[in-house]
Amino acid sequence: MKLLNKKAIVTGGTRGIGKAIVKELAENGCNVVFTYHSSEEIARKIEEEFSNENVKVIGFKADASSFSQAEEVVKFTLEKFGSIDILVNNAGITKDNLLLRMSEQDFDTVINANLKSVFNYTKAILKPFLNQKFGKIVNISSVVGIIGNPGQANYVASKAGVIGLTKSNAKELASRNINVNCIAPGFIETDMTDKLNEQQKQAILNNVPLKRLGKAEDIAKAVIFLSSSDSDYITGQVLTVDGGLVM
Ligand code: NAP
Repeated sequence: MKLLNKKAIVTGGTRGIGKAIVKELAENGCNVVFTYHSSEEIARKIEEEFSNENVKVIGFKADASSFSQAEEVVKFTLEKFGSIDILVNNAGITKDNLLLRMSEQDFDTVINANLKSVFNYTKAILKPFLNQKFGKIVNISSVVGIIGNPGQANYVASKAGVIGLTKSNAKELASRNINVNCIAPGFIETDMTDKLNEQQKQAILNNVPLKRLGKAEDIAKAVIFLSSSDSDYITGQVLTVDGGLVM
């Protein structure tokens, strides 16, 4: 139990990587408020799953793109738990298209959900973190934010932005004992990558030295490391969890 009695906020906790992060945090003794956009039923099921455990796991419907809703989530979490130790900015979407066909709206929607959301929650949580002189922030970027990807200009720009925001925030907040790091997952089996056909998956696998797609749990375990005291001397870093795809 690396995070016994700690308190965390996880954005986008109902599916895929976010759901695995919520579970891993809870299994390590951490109380969690997780957000979601539309998966009401799944949110209630996750709460039920942990209702007999010694930790509290609570779902909160909030659009990560909205600054005022981020403030509400932080306020709600402070009311429920009294303090917050960990913020995991995980919520994310794709709206892929070639640049020629990408609409302005699809560009803005992805930037707002994936990048502005990180600003929203970091800013909303800043006062409590500064006052307590402690905090762990883990942002979920992507390897494509490092190497680029055709057909994903909006997504790649958002994920590269998350890396820049992570480094800038890490420098700004280090003197207050707040660690800000980022994980860049490779190709992880979730609803997001379900859209890939077998041929696309095989092409990816050919470039992954460890010869398998990642599991949501692979990312969740890295989040536990970056949320725990094991990583106290690490800040501003991008940890790629990708089977060796990018090196
Ligand atoms: P996913 O299976 O599609 O799940 C996305 C989660 O984010 C859901 O819980 C969803 O809530 C929530 N969400 C989406 N938009 C939201 C919004 N505006 N406000 C609040 N919550 C929102 O995605 P995933 O594959 O687990 O990806 C999680 C993160 O990892 C994303 O940031 C993604 O970019 C990143 N990532 C994934 C991969 C991969 O291979 N899967 C690779 C690199 C990076 P609802 O259930 O309510 O819709």
